[in-house]
Amino acid sequence: MSARTIAVLTSGGDAPGMNAAIRAVVRAGITSGLRVMGVRRGYNGLLSGDAFEMNLRSVSDIIHRGGTALYTARSPEFNTPEGVQRAADMCHKLGIDGVVVIGGDGSFRGARDLTGAGIPCIGIPGTIDNDIASSEYTIGFDTAMNTAVQMIDRLRDTTESHDRCSVVEVMGRRCGDLALQTGIAVGATTILVPEVPFDFQKDIIERMRFTQKTGKKHFIIIVAEGVGHVTELAEDIESQTGIESRATVLGHVQRGGSPTLRDRVVGSEMGYHAVELLSQGKSNRVIVVRNSKIIDLDITEALQAVRPFNIELYRIAHKISI
Ligand code: ADP
Repeated sequence: MSARTIAVLTSGGDAPGMNAAIRAVVRAGITSGLRVMGVRRGYNGLLSGDAFEMNLRSVSDIIHRGGTALYTARSPEFNTPEGVQRAADMCHKLGIDGVVVIGGDGSFRGARDLTGAGIPCIGIPGTIDNDIASSEYTIGFDTAMNTAVQMIDRLRDTTESHDRCSVVEVMGRRCGDLALQTGIAVGATTILVPEVPFDFQKDIIERMRFTQKTGKKHFIIIVAEGVGHVTELAEDIESQTGIESRATVLGHVQRGGSPTLRDRVVGSEMGYHAVELLSQGKSNRVIVVRNSKIIDLDITEALQAVRPFNIELYRIAHKISI
């Protein structure tokens, strides 16, 4: 049976572009004859019944804003069989017969469980980390990369003026994509990612010494969040090379800001596609980018996907940043 009243929520970490997806779900839902409810603060809102009916104007003026207009949360309470059942009961009470969940893999596990409890769900990948193995791309990644590049360009100015080394931690949880892309774009001497083991002497000190001999005087080392320890790394680099080294953790600035064109467009397309699936009576699907196309997969299957790290691009980065 196809859904008549659908709900949309954002869950887990926020990401720029989530608003474009919310907007698309609301507008596509209403124009195809569905009632659309907005649920605040992820699964917490489903548990407490914090939901409201949305109209075409409820999503005006949000496409260019970062964050999520529906707010987001992590919900330990939902993450239990009783919690999932209570959320399903609340959906029945509110007349919700389909839910679009915008979030990461954790949120998709929740969507799978809620589908199992009788409420059809569709997942949309929204996270700045690009750490959803089933999808080549997640909403928010492009904005976060561009924000990181802008910030590191600023660091580069001062690093260059003082002949220093900047050791910069970027986000990405256990995924090195953000570090890799950003590292190439800022011309980092070395990029450290969790997917590739590194040798401190060979990959950092020897590279710095080699480039120093060719005239290089300032250095940027990009470190993925999953590698960490930037303060210790900066101290060790300074003690071994004598080059003044500073650690910078970019932190949550990478999560905010107006979404880029790409995040607005991908968010809009995915939101539209999610409504189409619910209208067709489909459930337990997640929308992903595969071979640069937007398609949908079974959530359970998607959660088992393994995506290899782009080692070729990593090697290119090391060859040319010398
Ligand atoms: P993300 O969706 O960004 O990966 P989390 O892992 O924090 O973020 O998950 C968001 C929420 O999804 C959790 O707070 C929880 O309510 C729900 N969730 C996570 N894992 C599960 C699970 N295994 N089963 C059911 N719900 C889950």
